[in-house]
Amino acid sequence: MAIPFIEGWELVQTLGEGAYGEVKLAANVETQEEVAVKFINLDKEATVRDDVRKEITIHKMLKHSNIIRFYGSRTVKNVQYIFLEYACGGELFDRIEPDVGMSPALAQFYFQQLIDGVDYLHSRGVAHRDLKPENLLLDEADNLKISDFGLATVFRYQGHERVMEKCCGTLPYIAPEVVKRRPYPAQPADIWSCGIILVAMLAGELPWDEPTANCLEYIDWKLSNLIRSPWNKIENIALALLRKILQENYTKRYTIPNIRKNKWFTQNLKKVLSSRSDSLSPSDSGSMKRICSGLDQASPLPAERVDQPFSLSQPDAHTRFTESPHSSLESLKAISYSQPARPDHMMLCSQNQTQESQSSGPRLVRRLTRFFVKTNHERTVCELTRVFDCLGFSWKKNSLGLFTLRTLDRRKMPLVFKAGLVLMGENMLVDFRLSKGDGIQFKRNFVKIRKSLQPIICLTPVATVWTSIPSNINDDAAESIQCNPEQTENNV
Ligand code: AMP
Repeated sequence: MAIPFIEGWELVQTLGEGAYGEVKLAANVETQEEVAVKFINLDKEATVRDDVRKEITIHKMLKHSNIIRFYGSRTVKNVQYIFLEYACGGELFDRIEPDVGMSPALAQFYFQQLIDGVDYLHSRGVAHRDLKPENLLLDEADNLKISDFGLATVFRYQGHERVMEKCCGTLPYIAPEVVKRRPYPAQPADIWSCGIILVAMLAGELPWDEPTANCLEYIDWKLSNLIRSPWNKIENIALALLRKILQENYTKRYTIPNIRKNKWFTQNLKKVLSSRSDSLSPSDSGSMKRICSGLDQASPLPAERVDQPFSLSQPDAHTRFTESPHSSLESLKAISYSQPARPDHMMLCSQNQTQESQSSGPRLVRRLTRFFVKTNHERTVCELTRVFDCLGFSWKKNSLGLFTLRTLDRRKMPLVFKAGLVLMGENMLVDFRLSKGDGIQFKRNFVKIRKSLQPIICLTPVATVWTSIPSNINDDAAESIQCNPEQTENNV
C-alpha cells in the first residue's frame, strides 16, 4: 500500500537517510512523475533550522546537469520538506566493488562528470565541503549528480572571496589543510575530496583514515612509498594525476583547469580498453561521520541573501506542489514506511530497467545490494538472523519486518544499515540499504552476508544484470560494468 502524501502524490519507497531525517520517493498518482522528498525534523537539534535554511538558499541557486535539481521546499509544523530531482540510479558507492573498484573507463566517465559539477559549483562561488561517493547520485542514464548541500557554503560573492576556517567534511575525504584548523581556500579542499573519490573508484578502498601525521598510510603517500594497496592497483597514468591532486601543499595542488588538461583525464579510455580486451574487467591493477566545527569567516553574502527570511510555512515560488498535505500527522507516520508500493516495479527498476517497462509505475531506485532467495518468508528471516548473529552484527526488527543492523567498520567507526524483505511473485527479494556510515564498508559487509547466504540465493537471469549502459561508454567497456553477483563474489 502506498502512503498518501500531498494530494495526488504517494510515498513509494525510502531512498536513504541523511543527518536530520529520511529521503523518500514520491510519485504522482496520475502521471507517475517522481520526486525525492527530504524530510527534516526541525526539532532534532538546536542548529537544524539554520542549517536547513542555508542548505535551501544555496541549493536553489544551482542549476546544472551534474547537480541534483532543487524543486522547492515547504515547512509543515516541525517538519521541513525539500523536493528534489529523483536520481533513480542510486548512489555512486554502490557501483564500487569493495577492494576492486570499477573499470578505469567507468571511473573516468564518472570523474569527468564530477569535475564538471564541482567546476560549476565553484563558478557560482559555492564550496560543497562534503564530497564523497555517498553524496554522488546517478540518474537512469548513469549521469552523476552531486547532492546534499548540508555543509555547503558560499566562498565568493560579487567577486569577493573569503577563506574557510571550519573543519568540515568526512575525515578520509578531508584535505590536510582542513584538519589543521587554519584558514584555507575553499576550492582546493573540494578538489582534494575528488582525488580521494577517484582512488575509491579505481581501487575500491580509501587510502587513509585521515591526512595527518598520525596516519601511517598518509605518511607513506607523502614519502612516495607506493608499493602497497591501493596504489599498486592503480595504473601509472592515473597515479600521476592523483599525485597532483592529493598534493599536501594546496598552492601546488592541481586546479580544475589543470585536471582538465591531464592525460588520464583526457585520454579516450573507452578506445584504450577496447583495444586491450584483458583490461575490460574492473581495475586489477571512520564511520564517515560528518564533522563541522569552528567558525568560518563571516559570509561575504549580504544579510538579505544569506539570512533571507524564508516563508518557511509556504512553498517556494517554483515548487510543483500547490496543494497542502492532507495531514501532517499522516505524512509523518509515513516516514516509517519503507516498502515499495509496487514490488514488481522495484524489481524491474533494480534489475533490468527500460524506459518502456516503466510506463505504468514509478522507477524505484536501482541498487546492487539486494538479492532474491528461494526460501519463504519465515525461513528467510531465520537464515538472515542466523547469518547476522554469526557475522557479529547487532540487529533488531521493527513491526514492519525491517531489520536495522549495527556493527563497527574496519576503521572501528559505527556502520548502520537496513534490510527488508519483499515478496515478488514466487521469490523473496532481500534489499539492503545504508543508513549511516561509509558506503564501501557497507558494501563489504553486504558481500559477506551474501556469501554466507549463498545456498538460499536464487540466481534468476534478471538478477544478474544490474545497470543500464551509459550511452557514451562503448559496448566493450560497458561489458565490464555489468556485474554478475556470482563472479563478483569471487573477486572479494
Ligand atoms: P542526504 O540527506 O541528502 O544525505 O540523503 C541521504 C540519502 O538519501 C542519500 O545518500 C541517497 O541514498 C538518498 N537520496 C537523497 N537525495 C536523493 C535524490 N534526489 N534521489 C534519490 N535518492 C536520494
